[in-house]
Amino acid sequence: MLWAMTLPVHQSRTRLMRRRTPPSLPVTARSIALFRLGEACNNHCPMCSNSGRPEAWLTPQEELLRRVDWLADQGLKRVVVTGGEPTSHPAFWAVIQRLNDRSMVWDINSNGRTFAQVGFADRAVEEGLQRAIISMHSHIPAVSQEMSGVTAKGHSEILAGIDALVAAGVPVMLNLVLSTINHATLLDYLDWTVARWGHDIELKICFPTTVGRGGAWPGIDLRYRDVASGVQAFVAACEAINLTWHLESFPLCAIDDPRARNMSRSGFGETHYLDDVSGDRLYPITHIEAELGCYAETCRTCQAFDTCSGVSEAYARRWGADELTPFR
Ligand code: SF4
Repeated sequence: MLWAMTLPVHQSRTRLMRRRTPPSLPVTARSIALFRLGEACNNHCPMCSNSGRPEAWLTPQEELLRRVDWLADQGLKRVVVTGGEPTSHPAFWAVIQRLNDRSMVWDINSNGRTFAQVGFADRAVEEGLQRAIISMHSHIPAVSQEMSGVTAKGHSEILAGIDALVAAGVPVMLNLVLSTINHATLLDYLDWTVARWGHDIELKICFPTTVGRGGAWPGIDLRYRDVASGVQAFVAACEAINLTWHLESFPLCAIDDPRARNMSRSGFGETHYLDDVSGDRLYPITHIEAELGCYAETCRTCQAFDTCSGVSEAYARRWGADELTPFR
């Protein structure tokens, strides 16, 4: 591993470093590309991690179809369709049709609400849907509504959409972004979701990013030390019932577990990201993460360094790196 640069930090005397990774990665038969249809969405999450760039809002249909062909020509066999909310894009089914035409399978990253429509989940399965990540930030209606920016009807649609996906036999992973209003209820969330959807559902807990257009929402003004004990208890409870859990954007020392399964920001093992504005360049996900993340200089000595994703540069610039404690 090489170290690329030192970042100045104002609130810590610890020097910060960045991991250097190759800016390109060959496409293989096992590669998966994150394919964004646009940032347009029918939810209004206050902590939205999207960029808010006008040019990224809603990619036109013809351009999306060209991108499918381009991805297929690069050798991609699988994509994760994402947004915004991909199912709200007017060209959604046209894109899926083109994926089928090019013999590509797909997963989806969604708020789930459209799947509540009669027949939508079944059609998605018929047209190649393999897996779904659905954002459900709380089982408590008022908390879910606030974090997803939806009405009571919107929360009901999220639940009904997950119901429909599970009934259609789609493997589902729920995505919960931590906030000040849900982090103390993780164990209840686990119990509630298992009671409704059983043990086959997978759960992912994501530490919030502050680099998107919702980065200033006070609800994500969290530190790792605020949530560590709750996340550790959640992981222990999942393991006690053999439920598959995932963490995203946690340095391993923050949860005191050097063996933790810490996913990439995208969540389904994506290897590449299709530039969502130009649509003609693939970046390795690992390269993007390395560009956004950093480590303390003391991380060099940590036994977990090879598998740890470090912390976001935004977090380290705000809070410093005093929480990072190398495993010896
Ligand atoms: S000390 Fe650094 S490398 Fe080790 S777990 Fe913490 S952030 Fe990761």
